[in-house]
Amino acid sequence: MREASASSRPPESGDPQGDLLGAETRVAVLLPLPLREAYDYRVPDGMTLNHGDFVEVPLGPRRVIGVVWGPGAGVVEARRLKPVVRRFDVPPMTAVARRFVEWVAAYTMTLPGFVLRMAVSVPAALEPPKPILAYLKRPDALAPPGFKMTDARRRVLALLEDGPPRTPGELAEEAGCGATVVRGLAEAGLLEPLLLPPAPPLGRPDWARPGPALSPHQEAAADDLRGRVQAGGYSTVLLDGVTGSGKTEVYYEAIAAALKQGKQALILLPEIALSAQWLDRFARRFGAAPAEWHSELTGSQRRDTWRAVAKGEVPVVVGARSALFLPYPDLGVIIVDEEHDSAYKQEEGAIYHARDMAVARAHLGGLPIVLVSATPSLETKVNADSGRYARIELPSRHGGAQLPEVALVDLRRDRPPARHWLAPSLRKALAETLAGGEQAMLFLNRRGYAPLTLCRACGHRMQCPNCTAWLVEHRLARKLQCHHCGLQQPLPPACPECGEEGTMAACGPGVERIAEEVAELFPDARAAIMASDTLFGPRAIQEMVRKITDHELDIIIGTQVMAKGHHFPMLTLVGVVDADLGLNGGDLRAAERTYQLLHQVAGRAGRGERPGTVMLQTFMPEHPVMQALAAGDRDGFYQLEAEMRQDAGMPPFGRLAALIVSGEDPTLVDRVAMALGRAAPRSETVHVLGPAPAPLALLRGRHRRRLLLKAPRATQVQPLIAEWLERVEIPPAIRVQIDVDPYSFL
Ligand code: ADP
Ligand code: ZN
Repeated sequence: MREASASSRPPESGDPQGDLLGAETRVAVLLPLPLREAYDYRVPDGMTLNHGDFVEVPLGPRRVIGVVWGPGAGVVEARRLKPVVRRFDVPPMTAVARRFVEWVAAYTMTLPGFVLRMAVSVPAALEPPKPILAYLKRPDALAPPGFKMTDARRRVLALLEDGPPRTPGELAEEAGCGATVVRGLAEAGLLEPLLLPPAPPLGRPDWARPGPALSPHQEAAADDLRGRVQAGGYSTVLLDGVTGSGKTEVYYEAIAAALKQGKQALILLPEIALSAQWLDRFARRFGAAPAEWHSELTGSQRRDTWRAVAKGEVPVVVGARSALFLPYPDLGVIIVDEEHDSAYKQEEGAIYHARDMAVARAHLGGLPIVLVSATPSLETKVNADSGRYARIELPSRHGGAQLPEVALVDLRRDRPPARHWLAPSLRKALAETLAGGEQAMLFLNRRGYAPLTLCRACGHRMQCPNCTAWLVEHRLARKLQCHHCGLQQPLPPACPECGEEGTMAACGPGVERIAEEVAELFPDARAAIMASDTLFGPRAIQEMVRKITDHELDIIIGTQVMAKGHHFPMLTLVGVVDADLGLNGGDLRAAERTYQLLHQVAGRAGRGERPGTVMLQTFMPEHPVMQALAAGDRDGFYQLEAEMRQDAGMPPFGRLAALIVSGEDPTLVDRVAMALGRAAPRSETVHVLGPAPAPLALLRGRHRRRLLLKAPRATQVQPLIAEWLERVEIPPAIRVQIDVDPYSFL
């Protein structure tokens, strides 16, 4: 394997955080850039540096930030070295965090600097925060001659009469005026400026607050987790229990145990599940909110949070996958909730699976990690079965709530009317639910109105010019959209191919079309669509959740956004419009994912006192996924799925790695892909399939070919791939992405 200096250095096991490098006159600094190795810099006189210190260094004409990675390698002559410019006043990156960067880089075959970029994602957080300007009323100041006291100005002064100091923004908002009004008063000398210290840290969650009285099963589970956290040391536990069995209450106890020891806790959630409901519940349990880390944060929230974590001021972080790379000084436990969720796989930039990397992080840091799910991934299930992971089970719903009844609707017999999508039996159940004053949800994991628009005269299909994908009609927005590259265009008045007018027809349903059918069937019912493009951000989701909880809605038509974690006591019927949808992808985990998603959707029904019913519309009622769902036979499904994977030598019983070759020139892409195919490693146990055009053969204007390496589970695929790539010259116009343990085969 080609040597990357950073990751080939021996592990710095004798390197406690803060180990001085004082005697060194040169240090290796890793930069958060796609570079293969750390660069040497000179330590100027009078500067002392530690392992892990954040520093500023020159790079060509630029100044960049970097992290002191160790003593200099000594290849470049001393007099040609450039000096470190300055050291930032933040705690150094811990040895564990640095080894984690190297580990992720080596495992995913990404450049270490590229991984480091995820760990120093907010350079502004390295600078001390600026004080905040605020105003008080100057007690006996007189307005200068000619100063006009307008209503708005009076309102601002009245606000400050006996209130605390406020920032210009707060004043403008509270007084309902523009920023210029506040500025005018300040310039006239009527306000007293003062500098407030930067935003105070969040309140600290209080581990000593009592939680609910746990059931004996829950108590035993909590006890096990507490013990692991107290004892320290690495272990992975699968916390396995049906939705509503109290998994969250139980892992709260593990968090409390970490806090009690003065350590931090990290909870990873799929981004979509990080809801206001989740945060409120945590705050109710611990008396203060956790710090959040996800894509909706503003720049200043990001900066404050990163810095506070680094300084050890944040005991609990809840975040999406990138929260793994925050600078925790002393993590005591990691929780991965909904561990089976495919949103944990990052598919862009550094391709990694956050659950797997979290396990590695726990291993390196010597701490317990809890994987939580009602439908574990087959990977995790097999690890628990074999004893590599411990397993804790919570067998029943808290308070004895019943699991919903699951019925299969056979669409071959129970047919919806033409150009409609709800079967007669589902329509009947909907009517009964509404008549009983209860709520129903229709689930279809497809945004928009229709997935395909075609010309009835010539058969022309509306396709994305940049991607191998149909354009999806969004009727509410009056647009055709590509869900891969984001292209939008108006609906054409005539067929772009044959020019006929009025022949363009929508084919198939999206949630908007189901909403149309619902309005037609139940004109008096209060219905709403819940999808990622109709709800912008956590606040909109929160408002929708409130409406459902307060029974301001009767029917919710939702995509995956709906499937996660919410608890609606009046929801007693869930209809799945197209249960077969996920099964047609032809990918390795299609059945598993469909099972998990449908199981989770089904979990929305009947969580309160009332029993729930789930109706799955399918053309394949005999399919093992449908049978298992109908019979409530989770373990039977896993058993079957595991046997199939084992026979095929597929994960988790075998290993896969994908190479994706892409570029703008299809001939060149083909040539490189063929060369890679010829140079592929082959042995009795290692096989390479392809090259073949990717299912998304064109994506954002780039042509794509795939190769898939398949090997026995014990194989280390990284060195094989590294040698393979050495044998082929890759021109600069071509990109070769490596996806170790691929989840997407598109
Ligand atoms: P899961 O995470 O397994 O879906 P939760 O922890 O969310 O389950 O529990 C489901 C519901 O039951 C929640 O409203 C929770 O507050 C409640 N619950 C669970 N265990 C208890 C308990 N021991 N006492 C009171 N309420 C509980
Ligand atoms: Zn596109």
